[in-house]
Amino acid sequence: MLLEQLREIVWKCNLELPKNDLVKMTSGNVSGRDPETGLVVIKPSGYSFEDLTPAHMVVVDMDGQVVEGDLKPSTDTDTHLYVYQRRPDVFGMVHTHSVYASTFAVLGEPIPACLTACAMLGGEIPLGGYAPIGGEAIGQEIIDKIGRAKAIVMQNHGVFTIGSSAPEATKMAVEVEEIAKITHLAMMRGKPIQLSESQVDYMVNLYQNVYGQR
Ligand SMILES: [Zn+2]
Repeated sequence: MLLEQLREIVWKCNLELPKNDLVKMTSGNVSGRDPETGLVVIKPSGYSFEDLTPAHMVVVDMDGQVVEGDLKPSTDTDTHLYVYQRRPDVFGMVHTHSVYASTFAVLGEPIPACLTACAMLGGEIPLGGYAPIGGEAIGQEIIDKIGRAKAIVMQNHGVFTIGSSAPEATKMAVEVEEIAKITHLAMMRGKPIQLSESQVDYMVNLYQNVYGQR
C-alpha cells in the first residue's frame, strides 16, 4: 500500500475531529501531503469516522486523480488541492463546521485577536467570502484571504485550517474552536479587548521562532 505512514497519520488526525467535538456524523475532513511524491492522503467522502481505518484513506495526485483507494475522496478534495498547489509550505489541511467558529461564519465576521493564543494561528482569524461548497472557488477564497493565518472562517460555511503537517493543521482546528468559544462567550458579556497589532506581531514571532521544541 502507498504511503502507509502518512495514511496512519491522516487517519489518526481524522479521528481527532469527533474526539474534540469539532464534527458531527460524516462532515469534516483532514488531508496530508507527502513531501516526496506530492501525493495527498484524504478522508473518503461521506464515511463515518468510527468506521474509518488507515486503508480507507484515499490517495490522490495534485490533479485530483485517485492513485489508490476504493472509495471516493472527500467532496472537499478540490478545495484542499487548490490550496496545496499554491502554498508549497502547506502539508496538512483540515475542514470542519465546528460550532463556535461557525457562528462567526454565520455572522460574516472574522474572529478578532483577543487572546494571546491567537498568535499561534497568526493573529486575527480572517473571513473568506461565500463560495459554493466542493469546488475551487472556496480554495481561491482561502488563498486570497488567509494571509499569514493558519485558519480561516468561510462565510455561511465553517472553518479551514492549514499547517506544515496534518497534525499541525488538526491542532489549529482544535485551537480555533477554543478561541472562537471563549471570544463568543466574552462578546455576550461585554466588549472584548482586542490585542494591538504590535502585541500580535510580537507573539506571532514568538510562536514561529521560539515556542516549542526545535
Ligand atoms: Zn463544509
